[in-house]
Amino acid sequence: MSIDEILNKTNLTCEEIKQLLAAEGEDKKKLFDRALQVKLKHLDNYVHLRGLIEYSNICTKYCLYCGVRCKNLKVERYQLSDEEVIECAKLAHKLGYGSVAIQSGERSDKAFVDKITHLVQEIKKIDNGSLGITLSLGEQTEETYRRWFEAGAHRYLLRIEASNEDLYYKIHPRDEKHDFKKRLDCIDSLLKVGFQTGSGVMIGLPFQSLDDLASDLLFFKQKDLAMVGMGPFIPHPDTPLWAYKDQIPPAEKRMELTLKMIATLRLMMPEINMVAATANQTLDPQGREKAILAGANVIMPNLTPNEFRENYLIYPDKANVKDKPSQTQSKLDESLAAIGHKVLYNAWGDSVAFMRKKALGQ
Ligand code: SF4
Repeated sequence: MSIDEILNKTNLTCEEIKQLLAAEGEDKKKLFDRALQVKLKHLDNYVHLRGLIEYSNICTKYCLYCGVRCKNLKVERYQLSDEEVIECAKLAHKLGYGSVAIQSGERSDKAFVDKITHLVQEIKKIDNGSLGITLSLGEQTEETYRRWFEAGAHRYLLRIEASNEDLYYKIHPRDEKHDFKKRLDCIDSLLKVGFQTGSGVMIGLPFQSLDDLASDLLFFKQKDLAMVGMGPFIPHPDTPLWAYKDQIPPAEKRMELTLKMIATLRLMMPEINMVAATANQTLDPQGREKAILAGANVIMPNLTPNEFRENYLIYPDKANVKDKPSQTQSKLDESLAAIGHKVLYNAWGDSVAFMRKKALGQ
């Protein structure tokens, strides 16, 4: 099938997705142009912000790619105090972000679950619940997800990282703590509880093929997710996957493949929210803007107090670790204006796809 025919479809086959991911030259340009056109038609030129709060780097898991893994003894562990979390949320509100996203290493003990419930309730008290709350706190029981939903969180991001089970176990240990089936069940629980549910993958992993990436996009579509976050894989020297750093595509290729994944998914799921991940900016100073032009519509500026950010490095050399929120905001407004986009301030920026389904009672 010609590229022009594929670009006018939303129900793409695995082969058609692979054709788009392999596009070069004029075909690649057509893919990016079409993805931007689709995004502007369905979502306008707005970008939604989530003030990111990296609550804690204490984690019970040891994913093979992650610098925060509990087996990395070089990391100084921290957990923000309640006051620090509330201050971050108040700052997000003051800056007009509309939403916060709380991210943490994975824990499921009672003290952690109770603490998150409490923090969500406290954040909802700010200006009568005016802040939307996204959580990204890993695998939990359906009961925990329900508690946090009832406390006031309404979006949850749980990245599958690789939808192919074989690949999943090449980037996670094969043991009871890192169970692919459980990850899938958790995504189903989140959908059942009623969260706007998001997932995502890393792009350019060792052992990853175009078939894997095409299957990832089909997985998001099949689950009918409300949001997706995808970013390039960046190896961390203090992790087992570092040993394979010479077997991955060069940074420019991983970046380009990420942009193609974003653009292709925008064609397949025109109304979902898609994050321009910080990892894009780490590989390319213009990476965030390129992701927005390829079809992303969400940015997560980091509001974690600066002294803790160096200890929340899933991958090394993370962009914006030293920026102050006020600097981030003015840089962001300018850089988005330069590419014909603007932040929609003081709004939750929910997924249009999700809200439409909800309105139809689905
Ligand atoms: S990816 Fe998440 S769950 Fe896995 S080790 Fe890192 S912080 Fe823990």
